[in-house]
Amino acid sequence: MLRLVLAVMLAVTALSAKGPVYVMLWFDTEDYIEPAADDAALRIATDLEKLGVKATFKVVGEKARVLESRGRRDVIRALAQHDIGYHSNYHSIQPTPALYLRGMSWLDGAAEFERRERPGVADIRRIFGVTPSCYGQPGSSWAPQTYRALLRLGIPVYLDESDHVGVNAQPFWFGGMLNVFHMGQFVIRPSLTDESQIPQTFEKFDRAAEELEARGGGVISWYYHPTEFVTSAFWDLNFAKGANPERSDWKNPPRRTAEESERCYHILRRYVEHAKSRAGARFVTARELPMLYESSSVHVGDRTAIARHMAARQTFLTTEAGTLSAADMLQVLLGMEPAVVEGPVARGETTYPEQGIPRAALQRVKIDAADFIRDRRRLPSEVWIGSKKLSLADFAATLAADDGASSSVTIRKGNLEMEKYIATDATGSFAWPIHPEGFSAPELLELARLQAWTLKPARLK
Ligand SMILES: [Zn+2]
Repeated sequence: MLRLVLAVMLAVTALSAKGPVYVMLWFDTEDYIEPAADDAALRIATDLEKLGVKATFKVVGEKARVLESRGRRDVIRALAQHDIGYHSNYHSIQPTPALYLRGMSWLDGAAEFERRERPGVADIRRIFGVTPSCYGQPGSSWAPQTYRALLRLGIPVYLDESDHVGVNAQPFWFGGMLNVFHMGQFVIRPSLTDESQIPQTFEKFDRAAEELEARGGGVISWYYHPTEFVTSAFWDLNFAKGANPERSDWKNPPRRTAEESERCYHILRRYVEHAKSRAGARFVTARELPMLYESSSVHVGDRTAIARHMAARQTFLTTEAGTLSAADMLQVLLGMEPAVVEGPVARGETTYPEQGIPRAALQRVKIDAADFIRDRRRLPSEVWIGSKKLSLADFAATLAADDGASSSVTIRKGNLEMEKYIATDATGSFAWPIHPEGFSAPELLELARLQAWTLKPARLK
């Protein structure tokens, strides 16, 4: 008997040693042209509710207003049983975010995005009675300035899928937000129309779940658009290649037959049932995500380890105690209590010509840099040594390599390893049928590289 109890206990321990698999099922609820898409959203929300599963519906501001004006309280009520996120005010009406933000600075761009999007967030609040839990950009119209604005709008999670920034295909902190983005093999978006693909999809899901269990847990990101269940081409092709027709000229997308739609709903149900049947897998919403992950507020960490790391490379550091972004570590090196701050607004330049800085001068620079960070809640692009400058990267490397004793501190070149987590294909990353033909936004990727100071993997509690 005792042996049996022991065996059972061991089995239970082995089972619980597997990390949790969190399944985030989300729906970009955006088609404000085709009324059948309203019914699709209702049907999906109701089906999932019957299955006992909560999803995240990222709703477009105009879609919410259209639901209201069409008198679809039934749809609004059904969606509100799930989690409500935000998917921009107008989605594909020109200009889309990356298009107008490409030529704007960090601060100006954030202010402009906030100006354009604040009314949409307010409408979501009024119509659904909640502040959206998350945001994701229309198409691939991603831009780093949106992060600053979204935090000011009270939205803490970035939920979407694209490749502009990412770490290890799992959630990460960037720009002060918790991101589920660039999720690689952990993205599931299988065919809704081809039943023969169901076995492969189950297998892909199981493989992803096993890998996460072995890694200690994580997120599977899984998404659709309600409109896909009732139409066979996207509603927003009205706005293809930068087009911006008048409302009266908008064309409805081609419809699926009722039978085809039923097949889509049926396939979705089968996927969800399969995921539900897996022990240790749990459906979670964007609103729950920040409770599952450690907050970005920083543990100070071991200063010696931080200095060694930052002297060689400026990028995040993962330790037993947690993860630290380069911005967190710079604050530790400056003797500050680390806070969530923004990256620099520009790529600073080193003009200081000497090999070393007198210790007293470095001390003044440190005090000034810490004061700037506290005052602006942002890292400086460069620091002044008299009339000459050090770039932020060179300053950080120099501070990290300082032995704290010599009368002159040797200048050390920065090594911005953090930037490798930002996409480099300024055309491919912004490819989207709605952007003007040949659209490319290297400026946005450069701003993203500057914000990589704030990048670090998120860690499950
Ligand atoms: Zn969308």
